[in-house]
Amino acid sequence: MSWSSIHGHDAARDQLRTAYRRGRMAHAYLFCGPSGVGKRRFALEFAKALLCEAPPEDLTACDRCAACVQIAAGTHPDCSFVRKPDDKQELPVDTIRELIGTLGLKPSRGSRKVAVIEDADDFNAESANAFLKSLEEPPPGTTIILLATSADAQLATIRSRCQVIPFAPLSDSAIEKVLADHGVRDRATLDRLLKLAGGSAERALALNDPAVLDLRSAMIAFLSSSRPQSAPLLEVWAKFIEDAGKESAAQRRRASAALGLAVDLIATALRLALGGDVAGLEPADADKLRRCAERVGVDSLMELLDRCLDADHLVDRRVQLVLLTELVVEKFGRAVAPAVTDRR
Ligand SMILES: [Zn+2]
Repeated sequence: MSWSSIHGHDAARDQLRTAYRRGRMAHAYLFCGPSGVGKRRFALEFAKALLCEAPPEDLTACDRCAACVQIAAGTHPDCSFVRKPDDKQELPVDTIRELIGTLGLKPSRGSRKVAVIEDADDFNAESANAFLKSLEEPPPGTTIILLATSADAQLATIRSRCQVIPFAPLSDSAIEKVLADHGVRDRATLDRLLKLAGGSAERALALNDPAVLDLRSAMIAFLSSSRPQSAPLLEVWAKFIEDAGKESAAQRRRASAALGLAVDLIATALRLALGGDVAGLEPADADKLRRCAERVGVDSLMELLDRCLDADHLVDRRVQLVLLTELVVEKFGRAVAPAVTDRR
């Protein structure tokens, strides 16, 4: 297993390994890239490689020693993963102070410690300030890894103290490997998921669900109806998100997957409106989306596409998902309904 379980991001791994061999590791890294591409999994593998007690080669975990097993189980005393509480919009200063306290203690097992901060986008001024000294001069043997969606979104004081490692959207072949790891091997399903994944393995996995097909049908029905009803669409959409369970991160993944579905359908309708091809689309769906394109028009579809992309951005900004979903469904209604009114 070890690095072989990480699909994509070879450049990032090679960069870290080269630095390790040259004895030039940074003490703080900022992993930057879109959500769902596997930054957290990569950070976990990196942590294992740093703390492994019997590494088979440089910066590679054995996956068998006590340290590797503990990290995989989330119980290694010298490896901390920190995230903001589910009910908080920002990374609270208390969470950071607690981490600083932990980092100040001597390592329990070996001579190294690793801390991963999963929500670096959500530092507020207070928690960022509290963390600056640790970032600049961590205790000896400590490696700090911040996970973020973009370097630009970070406070300059944080960014300047970290080495930035960019994470790109995943290639189709990398996503296919992740899906295969999760038992998805059927070609038609793979093709459908890859088309909708947008470079995110997490999104592809979230979309591998019969509920996705229900939501997609509801969206197509709404877009193609001459009398679209918002309530049924909202109900299916909200249920799709709720069914992710209570955990906020899982709900956000689903909310983002739903918006990805919407974006794909609207983009398909736009392609049809502009006379493009629809390879891979069911003929019945193509007919419906063509009707939608004719009635709604390119301008309104473009507008709706923008609103969905804006909303997807907001999913990561921790707005209330119920409100966001209502807002998006309302935008759907506004895009589709005026055309209906015009025809009366
Ligand atoms: Zn090991």
